[in-house]
Amino acid sequence: MKKYFLFTLFLCFMQITAMAQLQNTQPTLMTPREHFGKELQILIDDMIETMRAEPGVGLAAPQVAVPLRLIVVEYGDDENPETPPKLYVMANPQIIRASAETERGIEGCLSIPGFLGEVERSLEIVVRGQNRQGKPMKVKAKGWLARIFQHEIDHLNGVLFIDRAEKVWRAEEEEHAQVTAVD
Ligand SMILES: [Zn+2]
Repeated sequence: MKKYFLFTLFLCFMQITAMAQLQNTQPTLMTPREHFGKELQILIDDMIETMRAEPGVGLAAPQVAVPLRLIVVEYGDDENPETPPKLYVMANPQIIRASAETERGIEGCLSIPGFLGEVERSLEIVVRGQNRQGKPMKVKAKGWLARIFQHEIDHLNGVLFIDRAEKVWRAEEEEHAQVTAVD
């Protein structure tokens, strides 16, 4: 059976010069009355569009200089690569459970253009948050989907993959552009 490894091209629009700023940012916790209005819907649509245009598998609001605890993720199913990717929009995401079992995977981020790193992440997580209307939602994620959520939620806490990576290297152009590899 084919196994797909994703060289994740996480969307990161902050330039290196802006990284220090990102790390000091404390994105706002979103409350329904203040935040889940028309402006937020426009922002969410813009974020989805930006993520898809790259193309990428996730984007956090602070990456587009919006200090809100908001992420978008779009990813398919590791086991069934034919399945169309599923879109998640989550405000105030919180990891409420993370497996002790971890795995290493290769991540990239446009905040650190041209670099990849090997990052150890929990294999399975449960994330609780709110959908774009502010209704509670919960996602159980495994494998790469779990990795993407952890990467994006890290952005909300000012953490970049290089902060966690045990090994970081300069990627060849084709390596960086590679989305899947087949064993
Ligand atoms: Zn990133």
